[in-house]
Amino acid sequence: MINSTTAATNTHVMQLPRKVIIGERILNDTSQLIKENTTKNPKIALITGKNVKSKIIGTIEENFFENNINFQWFIAGDASFESVGKIENELKQDKIEVIIGIGGGRCIDIGKMSANNLKKPFISIPTSASHDGISSPFVSLRGSDKPYSIKVETPVEVIADLYIISNAPGKLIASGCGDLIAKITAIKDWEISRDDTNEYFGDYAANLSSLSAKMMLDMSKRIGNKQIDTKIARTIVEGLISSGVAAGIAGSSRPCSGSEHLFSHALEYISNGKCGLHGERVGIGTIIMAKLHKLNWIEIKNALGVFGAPTTAKEIRVDKDEIIEAFTIAKNIRPERYTILNRVDLNKNQIRDLIEEVGII
Ligand SMILES: [Zn+2]
Repeated sequence: MINSTTAATNTHVMQLPRKVIIGERILNDTSQLIKENTTKNPKIALITGKNVKSKIIGTIEENFFENNINFQWFIAGDASFESVGKIENELKQDKIEVIIGIGGGRCIDIGKMSANNLKKPFISIPTSASHDGISSPFVSLRGSDKPYSIKVETPVEVIADLYIISNAPGKLIASGCGDLIAKITAIKDWEISRDDTNEYFGDYAANLSSLSAKMMLDMSKRIGNKQIDTKIARTIVEGLISSGVAAGIAGSSRPCSGSEHLFSHALEYISNGKCGLHGERVGIGTIIMAKLHKLNWIEIKNALGVFGAPTTAKEIRVDKDEIIEAFTIAKNIRPERYTILNRVDLNKNQIRDLIEEVGII
């Protein structure tokens, strides 16, 4: 017989998307793809941004009208809890049953958060591959007392149209590569937390996440100056989805987010969000933290450069003082998340020397 106490402590919940569809020009078949989640023809919300809407409205509406889908568009505000609150009221008034987020980080996060609060299924349709939130149970929004990602319900379905994603601005896909390469230091941080604090460490989730980062490093050596085509976009999208799934398996963002993410959240906090994209900041954080972990930071920096991701403070419009300040406060952003920053105690001069050495400033 299983001892109930042991069973309780060993209980581990994995939340994964029910369905992931990756292909080219698949949005003109959206109604078919979401069929399993819309069997009773519920009213569907399409949460998106103005620019994305203008690009996809023809494709989606033609398909939805043809198949008598009951839907309504909603335009997302900025990436804040205030926007979530506003949209939630509209969704409630319109008796929405299924929520679809179409766009980059902001629309996916606002859709995911409101679906979570209203207890409705959420379908994620990323139009760029800029971060791993496209499939993960985490959202990153401004306006809470926690300046880091919070856990919500996992999207029930992810539909990634590679034609749209590979045609998005190169800066977005480069940011996605930064978020994937970040898994190198995230996993190292998780390992040292296991060793120093006895924190749960999931081998499978860690390996899955590491694999995505390794594939990015390998790919950076092969592609050189080649344009990002749908084949390369597929690998990046699959990597981002896998790492989101790794977080679902671990039941926490541990496999995806370590000291480099704490640094990124700190930088965002200091500069009020005016410091590049999420994956751009974590990419720079990864170079710094890799040096602290005594990893091959040059290989990481070179790979980010190949994908066109920033490797200096100037490229994300922050200065030396902001980088030093972000590094200093990073470990206080989320005190319970033990990382390499808990093992080292650097003063301002040592931090400056470190970031100069890795060429961030
Ligand atoms: Zn991330």
